[in-house]
Amino acid sequence: MKRKNLMTPGPSPVPSFLREALAKEIIHHRTDEFRSILADVHQGLQNLLFTKNPVVVLSASGTGAMEAAVSNLFSKGDKVVAISGGKFGQRWTEIANNFSLDVIEFKINWGNAPEPKKLEKVLNENQNVKAVLTTLCETSTATVYDTESIAKIAKSAGAISVVDAISGLGQDKLLTDQWEVDVVVSGSQKGLMLPPGLSFLSISDKAKELLEKSDLPKYYFDLKKAISKHETNDTPYTPAVTLVVALAAALDAINKEGVKARWEKFEKLAKAAQSAAKALGLTILSSRPSASATAIKMPENIKSSQVVKILRDKYGLSIAGGQAQLKDKIIRIAHMGWINAQDLIACFSLLEAVLKEVGHQFKTGSSLMRLEEVIYG
Ligand SMILES: *Cc1c(COP(=O)(O)O)cnc(C)c1O
Repeated sequence: MKRKNLMTPGPSPVPSFLREALAKEIIHHRTDEFRSILADVHQGLQNLLFTKNPVVVLSASGTGAMEAAVSNLFSKGDKVVAISGGKFGQRWTEIANNFSLDVIEFKINWGNAPEPKKLEKVLNENQNVKAVLTTLCETSTATVYDTESIAKIAKSAGAISVVDAISGLGQDKLLTDQWEVDVVVSGSQKGLMLPPGLSFLSISDKAKELLEKSDLPKYYFDLKKAISKHETNDTPYTPAVTLVVALAAALDAINKEGVKARWEKFEKLAKAAQSAAKALGLTILSSRPSASATAIKMPENIKSSQVVKILRDKYGLSIAGGQAQLKDKIIRIAHMGWINAQDLIACFSLLEAVLKEVGHQFKTGSSLMRLEEVIYG
């Protein structure tokens, strides 16, 4: 028998109070009881996103909401700029290409964040751009983008901003209305502490106007239908009832603790993780590290997949390796949702054990000392 711990950037751990909510007897969705729960969910999501815009709940993993955004906001041949600095920025490009949009891929080096000035230039050089598709936390590189500036630049070019906040929501700062972000998408299995299966999408008045013009095919993910049902705390089709019931409990807990207090908590964990990695003679991949996860470069002679494998097989701890061009180059440690300081301390202790085993040299306990200094002050 071995205990398993998840410190991957999705899925992230599901606390016992939410597993209890998930274990409740199922209820019917066309009832006042369910509509009242969904009303709480809608309000809770608006609090979490700092928005007055409707936030619809879709039964799909996060990518479903990304696809819904593309298929509902645009028409064939519409020009969009997709910021591509990792696996998930690439996903925006892929979805938009599959729906026959005219995609301008704004490529940046993996690990970097887009420079607002350069984005401005791209938008100046291309007329009639309908939207900028971007990411709050690019999970593949654990990089947080300057969403406030990106949204502002998009707006002054007459474009809407569409932000993938699937991993960042709850840890990385996001003020949807204050920053005038038009569309935010997220999912259940990262900062929200739930199993995979739900996604969310908030939509501004300006973005709603685009729904009327869109000529792309859609049926299940029809946002006009979803928004119209949202007004009466209903859904067009059978929602994932059990997950929605647990989501109400998750949002209640998050909003009670305070969204801003949680941003600070995770920012501190991120700083602690960065500092701990450096104490081991390692470097941080990102030039603008996220509060949701930390990507650490492995030394040339050590394959990150080996570190991930030993951690999982020997100690029951799951962290993530690198994806695509970063395969075997980095490890990624999540600090989101239910993950706390104790988890991070245990993680670095085990990481030290594994790094010793694969031949990396450092002073035993040095990462733990730095963690304690940052966490306990
Ligand atoms: C996890 C993640 C996704 C993919 O979401 P799924 O729930 O796997 O569909 C998309 N974007 C980002 C930034 C993510 O972290």
